[in-house]
Amino acid sequence: MAHPLSSEKEPSSKSSNNPAAGSTPLLRFHFLSLFPETFSPILNSSVLKRAQEKGLVEFNLVQIRDFATDKHHTVDDTPFGGGEGMVLRADVLFAAWQSVAHENSETILLSPQGEIFDQAQAKALAVAKRDLILVCGHYEGVDERFIELCVNREISVGDYVLTGGELPAMVLADAITRLIPGAVGNERSIAHDSLENGLLKYPQYTRPREFGGLSVPEILLSGDHAAISRYREAQMNERTQTKRPDLWKKIREPDEV
Ligand code: SAM
Repeated sequence: MAHPLSSEKEPSSKSSNNPAAGSTPLLRFHFLSLFPETFSPILNSSVLKRAQEKGLVEFNLVQIRDFATDKHHTVDDTPFGGGEGMVLRADVLFAAWQSVAHENSETILLSPQGEIFDQAQAKALAVAKRDLILVCGHYEGVDERFIELCVNREISVGDYVLTGGELPAMVLADAITRLIPGAVGNERSIAHDSLENGLLKYPQYTRPREFGGLSVPEILLSGDHAAISRYREAQMNERTQTKRPDLWKKIREPDEV
């Protein structure tokens, strides 16, 4: 259902970063930020760059400051009730949001107060086939009324506080985009990634066979594919138990977590 305040218009591709213009991407990300210039090296490298070129995703950078209405382009102000720092104004954020929001968009605020982002959420968002509006806070944060009116969910990238939502937004864009079919060259590599089935990936080795006095495990050189599979499965179980007992518990006792 459309949000009462959303403008029911077609998705905008204004200031699109997509070289494959013309095709409809599976997923369109709109980044609302005061520092859109920080995104370019990440969005225009490696898998994210290729996903744009293939027309799978589109990245739209929205400068929040462009929506300030006073001559100084003010985007923030001091908090009512006192306290440190500056708060991003609801009216400016709202205008920026309204420039891209539509009936089928989902708005995510990057926030240390949000639910912690994980692979399951990345998977769900990768198949959502909708516009994702990622709002990057800065300074002390965002006026609560913008959150109440426009934000569908808050997502955190971990229990620590960053300077702004730009890095978290890029984390989401990367984790989600590489799960879109066709984004990563060899899709089987995704199926075997850590966390895909709840477990950590087995240890990996490449040339040289000997390094620093350590040898590649013999089994990997045996050519016995069934034995290698069994070895890797055992390694996945063992290292998940050791390195991430919380994940192991989730698999063994799903109802308890
Ligand atoms: N004063 C805020 C608080 O205590 O909740 C923190 C503001 S933080 C300095 C500025 C912005 O960085 C936030 O509005 C948010 O967009 C982003 N941010 C910081 N830590 C984050 C995290 N762990 N996950 C996602 N976004 C985060």
